[in-house]
Amino acid sequence: MKNLSCPFLPRLARGFRSLPSTAYLAFACCLALAACRPPHAAPLRVQWFTMGTVAAVQCADHSAAPQARDLAQAAFDDLDRELSAWKNDSALAAVNDAAGTGQPVSVSPAFATVLRTALAFSKESDGAFNPLIGPIMCAWGFNGADPRPSPPGEAELKAAAALADWRAIDLTSAPTSATVRLPTAGMRLDLGAIAKGYAVDLAWQRLKAAGHTNLLVDLGGNLRAIGEAAPGRGGWRTGVRNPFAENALVGMFLMRDGEAVATSGNYERFVEIEGVRYAHIMDGRTGRPVTGMAGTTIIAPDAMTADALSTTLFVLGPEKGAAMLRSHPGCEALWIPDTPDSLTFFATPGFAERLKPLGPLAYTLNVIRP
Ligand code: AMP
Ligand code: MG
Repeated sequence: MKNLSCPFLPRLARGFRSLPSTAYLAFACCLALAACRPPHAAPLRVQWFTMGTVAAVQCADHSAAPQARDLAQAAFDDLDRELSAWKNDSALAAVNDAAGTGQPVSVSPAFATVLRTALAFSKESDGAFNPLIGPIMCAWGFNGADPRPSPPGEAELKAAAALADWRAIDLTSAPTSATVRLPTAGMRLDLGAIAKGYAVDLAWQRLKAAGHTNLLVDLGGNLRAIGEAAPGRGGWRTGVRNPFAENALVGMFLMRDGEAVATSGNYERFVEIEGVRYAHIMDGRTGRPVTGMAGTTIIAPDAMTADALSTTLFVLGPEKGAAMLRSHPGCEALWIPDTPDSLTFFATPGFAERLKPLGPLAYTLNVIRP
């Protein structure tokens, strides 16, 4: 491990717009306003609210923004119909409603791809990533109902953890059809840790196919780049949010053409029970919210991998998480432990090299090798 001392800037870089704090952990900005490149205006950022979060496209060519926005939203809508945990008529809801009936439910190729990838991450992480986390989310009151008066007891957590047995998911796929069956009533798929990444990949592919060249697509902090923010820029400057201060960054790095970035954070979604905050990322093996980690940011070759890894590595922490990255070439990670009084971060060598500090407040960066 190598120690580097870095500062951070406790406010947004010039040119950022203030964004809803719950929606963003990492977000991108263009510094094309820099005086050295007067002919190039800053990319146009168009943002909107969808799927319970903020989506955006940033386009170097301003005239491309309306079409890019429409294409991206159409891709998000297509997947939302399939994978939404909040819509009663989504394919995901149909699978959950059929749990315990013995009936397999037909799902689309996209659904099967997301679930198959999720299960591969579960297997590889020994259950740290768990697409059947739904019963545990419900036990802690993340199902949209009134807040619980007290935390779930041992018996309730044990029952929820038993229903979160991802190995029991029955996914069959043939070239043209796929089915999913959940064997026990009460089992609930929750693909919230991977679906947005897949949606960003789908939007990115459609945008590329439509001829868009220099653009960044973003769904709730899941980002993927095409080209660069301005000629010669080499990519898109992207900020890592400081989990301990709203609208502040711990540093910036350059996202290259084709790359994706995702962040998981304990401040994004939480419930409050008896005055204590419980964050939304669970350890399915204990049935309890993960503690000790404030945020993880991943750079990956595609957005689904970035999204799945950001959640998995949040649960695993730096040492086990770095070991897992050995089988994910091209992926880099940053961990920010939940220790606001002593800012000590962990990063893979590639992330440490790319992360540029922003200001005067020091943090320690421990470099951890996969
Ligand atoms: P993300 O923000 O991508 O880290 O996803 C977090 C969301 O994924 C949560 O709000 C839950 O819906 C779901 N989730 C929580 N814990 C896990 C877990 N251990 N594995 C997979 N999904 C999870
Ligand atoms: Mg995720």
